[in-house]
Amino acid sequence: MTGSRDPIVVVGAGIAGAAAAAALRAAGADAVVLERRREPGSGSAISLWPNALAALDRIGRGDAVRAAGRPSPTGGTRREDGRWLMRPGAARVDRALGEQALGIRRADLVAAIAGPDGAVATRHGATVEAVARRAGGAAVRLADGEELAARAVVIADGSGSTTISGIAPVPAARYAGYVGWRGIARLRVDEPATQFWGPSMEAGFLALPDAETYWFLTERLPEDAPAPADDGAHVRRVLADWPAPMAALAAATPAAELLRHPVRDRRSLRRWSRGPVVAIGDAAHPMRPHLAQGGCQAIEDGVLLGLLLAREPDAAAAAARFAAARRRHVAGVVRNARLIGTALHAPRPVNAAFHAGNALAPSVAMVAQLRAVASRRAFERQARRLGL
Ligand SMILES: Cc1cc2nc3c(=O)[nH]c(=O)nc-3n(C[C@H](O)[C@H](O)[C@H](O)COP(=O)(O)OP(=O)(O)OC[C@H]3O[C@@H](n4cnc5c(N)ncnc54)[C@H](O)[C@@H]3O)c2cc1C
Repeated sequence: MTGSRDPIVVVGAGIAGAAAAAALRAAGADAVVLERRREPGSGSAISLWPNALAALDRIGRGDAVRAAGRPSPTGGTRREDGRWLMRPGAARVDRALGEQALGIRRADLVAAIAGPDGAVATRHGATVEAVARRAGGAAVRLADGEELAARAVVIADGSGSTTISGIAPVPAARYAGYVGWRGIARLRVDEPATQFWGPSMEAGFLALPDAETYWFLTERLPEDAPAPADDGAHVRRVLADWPAPMAALAAATPAAELLRHPVRDRRSLRRWSRGPVVAIGDAAHPMRPHLAQGGCQAIEDGVLLGLLLAREPDAAAAAARFAAARRRHVAGVVRNARLIGTALHAPRPVNAAFHAGNALAPSVAMVAQLRAVASRRAFERQARRLGL
């Protein structure tokens, strides 16, 4: 038997899980986070848009996160030969978004969301094997056989989730046709965050604190093509003739700060909740990285769900309301990220046509798209829809 005195169990202490647990705690609810890693992960850096910062402000964690990152104006998009494709003007973007985006190391982000030691009870080295609904609540089973009763379970174990199959069938992940590299360069760059579109490739950078800069490169590569033997040499060669500072960033990146991963995609879950068991973040809606919104939407999810679960005695009703309100909004973000990624990595004629089409689009369209998803107001609209 489970009951309303049981804690809410959060599976996974990534970005989504940390946000959910911090929101539950801020609203006075009892939560336990179970994380399979023995120690917090590192995992490169991330751009955090104002929609995520607004969500974190709701639970009092925004300023801690700002203190751990570095704000940057948004520059725009250039071609690999240096010509500008889209340049909306940094001041105009800041006004539309409500503040600047932040560059932050992932580990620092998760730590800043979680708060001082012990603020959120996290058990590291706790791998969840199964989640089941029970009369009046739910239960999780750990790899060592331990079972924990829960008032509700928040599934936040990422795109490779093994625990969501009780909510809905899990669609298979498919290779998207391109590979991504993420690096942290020991080089200070004081320019606005910029993206570059090349032949079936994309690159970009964003300033971090401590004279470091986060950068990325994605490149079309057939699934059966061999991976480069030396990632550092490969990215230095690809970026050698690109506009500054891309080549310098690749050259100033230690091997330990360069990560390669094939970009994979799977359809979002058909349903995100069943009774008091509910999925958030990449577990519910993995997305391609081109809008830099996967982590931001994971934070919105965690904060909104945490506040609802803390307020609503009927956890199943809260989970269902959350899922109904969020699915439509996030589906649009997932779809746009997929369309952009596909066009950016298409073979040359399609890819070149996509560049040309965007070069003609007025920057007002780019700003409107950012405002609809990445602004402080975008989060506030989502919160209002849920009565928060
Ligand atoms: C190249 C790239 C660049 C990106 N750039 C950005 C960006 O700039 N901005 C942005 O907002 N997003 C970005 N994203 C997306 C972002 O990284 C993800 O959307 C985000 O990490 C999702 O967070 P999550 O907490 O849902 O999942 P994860 O970060 O994957 O966390 C899941 C956690 O669950 C734990 N776990 C897994 N299984 C179990 C289990 N069985 N039991 C217990 N614990 C478990 C894992 O160890 C992990 O800690 C990018 C993604 C990629 C691939």
